[in-house]
Amino acid sequence: MPKTKFIFVTGGVTSSLGKGIISASIAKLLVARGFTVAIQKLDPYINIDPGTLNPYEHGECYVTDDGAETDLDLGHYERFTSVPTSQANNITTGVVYQSVINKERKGEFLGETVQVIPHITDEIKYRIKLLANRGNFDFLITEIGGTVGDIESLPFIEAVRQLRWEMGRNSVVVHLTLVPFLAAAGELKTKPTQHSVKMLQEQGVQPDIIVCRTERNLNEGLRNKIALFCNVNPSSVIECIDAESIYEVPILMKQENLDLEILKKAEVPVEGEPDLEAWKKFLYTIKNPGSVVHVGLIGKYVELKDAYKSINESFIHAGAANECRVEVRAIHSEYLDESNLEEKLKGLDGILVAPGFGERGIEGKILAIRYAREKKIPFLGICLGMQCAVIEFGRNVLGLKGAHSTEFNRATPFPVIDMMEMQKKISGLGGTMRLGAYPCQLQKGSRVYDVFGTDHIAERHRHRYEFNNEYVDAYTKAGMLSVGLNKKDNLVEIIELKNHPWFIGVQFHPEFRSTVAHPHPLFVSFIKAAIRHASETN
Ligand code: GLN
Repeated sequence: MPKTKFIFVTGGVTSSLGKGIISASIAKLLVARGFTVAIQKLDPYINIDPGTLNPYEHGECYVTDDGAETDLDLGHYERFTSVPTSQANNITTGVVYQSVINKERKGEFLGETVQVIPHITDEIKYRIKLLANRGNFDFLITEIGGTVGDIESLPFIEAVRQLRWEMGRNSVVVHLTLVPFLAAAGELKTKPTQHSVKMLQEQGVQPDIIVCRTERNLNEGLRNKIALFCNVNPSSVIECIDAESIYEVPILMKQENLDLEILKKAEVPVEGEPDLEAWKKFLYTIKNPGSVVHVGLIGKYVELKDAYKSINESFIHAGAANECRVEVRAIHSEYLDESNLEEKLKGLDGILVAPGFGERGIEGKILAIRYAREKKIPFLGICLGMQCAVIEFGRNVLGLKGAHSTEFNRATPFPVIDMMEMQKKISGLGGTMRLGAYPCQLQKGSRVYDVFGTDHIAERHRHRYEFNNEYVDAYTKAGMLSVGLNKKDNLVEIIELKNHPWFIGVQFHPEFRSTVAHPHPLFVSFIKAAIRHASETN
């Protein structure tokens, strides 16, 4: 194929319809047909990135190899396609304006009045094309965040309008809407879709394909009605029925011929069928698991559906790899104390202590870790979870009374977790973190060496604090081994316990690299250990 084809995914009626999953599913189907694909998310908010947004606002902040703090939809893109994303795959209004304003300050507009059209829209278009050109992809899927009609997404829709005009058949617009079922009337309603498409048309964009999120099947009459009102072919009205698992969506979209419709609109010759065998096998396994294991997820945001998205998805991948279902018991660390510890953690075959920032819930995490260590329950500590494991071991095994992280107690007598020297010089919160993929060397003979099957790995980071090297020897002697190191900066990346069936803490975030095709080895091994624990204790 000579040139990149552009697919724009917009959404109407309400937010949370699953544009990210639809975009990822389109990508999956095209990749399964042998095309090269990139996906990008345009977010209309003014923050430069979600790095400074708390999980209550925005769910998980997903980190890429190149250290971008991005929207969690990028996680879906990677999990579905195994194609790594980067800074260029997530653009916010903040980034666009910042770059235009910087150019203005440098005098690059030569005295022109700087305006939303053309300057802001030019910047948006430039950033869309930049990604397409960089990878020379067959398709670039650009998901426009927000809902059509939002004031803040107007410049993005306008940029789509202009690109459509420039590109003609090299572009396809897929519009996702809701077709609600009104119980009182006993029928599905197309009016919200009609209105939403009308609004998109008012902004100069005619969708080619309409994907209708619905809880009931769309009959032919409804499809024809939507087609008639919205200027699309009946075959371009795609039903997207609620599914039990997000991983069913690519298959559902295939059954609805969404991939064929896209190829037809983009005038790309259709050859053969997408290869979805491995995907279908994965789906079969998650729907028909051989067994069930119970794993505790200890964190302070467990009541939020999206706060630990990548961890929860990694459990699904690792469960499938072990042909079992991972039943996750969400346990709020803030409400965990000596009096309820046993009751809340009873029956767990594995305990994962989550990443996080700030002091809230720390003591509950430390208690849970002590429980896992003493009762020999498989334990995985991620980032703050590893740091808490170091604190717990210091206090309860080495007898370092009051041991802590200087993030929570600057005056602790035993700063076993401390800020890295290189970070101390930087002030302010935004941009001071160790972010993105760093290499890590694994000690031969360690459990993690076994788990990864190699001695060199690269994993993604997002933190400011580290295991304090002054304590490494004392910990090693007492049985907490530093088995993964960043040689260049002399930082401990992984700890594991000697006298424990499976107790590993990692300073990085393995959950950001787990995909359907490549479940993360740490999660796979953790779940295997949990299955073993279950079989030994029952
Ligand atoms: N708050 C800790 C730090 O900044 C851990 C961060 C995390 O868990 N991602 O080092």
